[in-house]
Amino acid sequence: MASVTAEIPAMAHSGQAPDVRDARAVPVVAFANQKGGVGKTTTAVNTAVSLAQRGYRVLLIDADPQGNATSSLGIDKLGVGPSIYDVLVDGLPLAEAIQASDRPGLDLVASTPMLAGAEIELVDAPGREARLREALAATVSRYDVVLIDCPPSLGLLTVNALTAARSVVVPIQCEFLALEGLGQLMTTVDLVKRGLNPPLDVTGVLMTMFDARTRLSAHVVAEVRRYFPHRMFGTVVPRSVRLAEAPSYGQAIVEYDPSSRGADAYEAFVTELSTRLHLPPRERPRSQPQEGNAP
Ligand code: ATP
Ligand code: MG
Repeated sequence: MASVTAEIPAMAHSGQAPDVRDARAVPVVAFANQKGGVGKTTTAVNTAVSLAQRGYRVLLIDADPQGNATSSLGIDKLGVGPSIYDVLVDGLPLAEAIQASDRPGLDLVASTPMLAGAEIELVDAPGREARLREALAATVSRYDVVLIDCPPSLGLLTVNALTAARSVVVPIQCEFLALEGLGQLMTTVDLVKRGLNPPLDVTGVLMTMFDARTRLSAHVVAEVRRYFPHRMFGTVVPRSVRLAEAPSYGQAIVEYDPSSRGADAYEAFVTELSTRLHLPPRERPRSQPQEGNAP
């Protein structure tokens, strides 16, 4: 895995000119919900790969000590060099922690299990909530969009992601007690917005793991729609074995099984998200594989 150093413009491997955008114009999106296992990582990874295939320059930041976004892209989280830990705790320039993902257009800042200690190590650090934002400032303009996969907590790592982001996407699993804790998440978003990051907004809520065979799934979607009448994405991601299998092959669903229902759903979601983020259209998307790589 080639490391992209500070001297080499990120995305050089993509074959595109390393032009830079106005940093304020680059959408930074945090996928957040302190509930575990709701589809944050699945959504962040599939969105990242899909946007890269559409021709955007994408940076995915794995801000979860579990490192699931890192391994979902086929990268061994125990073998990564500089990671988000070094950036947040030791002040390493973000550019030195960026690595290529082996996909044109997609770079990654990996996580390691050491990140679990960061919440404690940063307790007395100055500007501890804004360390990711500060780190991103010098590098963000090399990308069209930055995506951050948050851990299942509302601690300092998620607060750093919310402080760095302009946009929050909240994946919600179509299960019993789906709404539990959402009030707390919205309160945290409001506190960050008021204190640290006024432009922050909830761009949308994405229902995941919808099971058409159960009444519960439809009931949960209706409940969440009552709670967020204007923020739900039209796309609902179905429960799909193919979506759950793809990360074990280090692939996104559009790589693993592009004709599956899960791939269709994530493609539709990414189209909706691109519109909500006002991403400028790409004229020449990168060619997509014609067939899945699934065994
Ligand atoms: P955590 O809070 O632990 O970080 P998460 O919110 O990131 O979890 P994921 O890791 O994306 O959630 O998903 C949890 C599990 O459910 C994973 O094993 C994933 O492969 C699986 N999964 C996600 N979405 C779907 C889906 N639509 N259908 C079936 N399985 C899914
Ligand atoms: Mg996750």
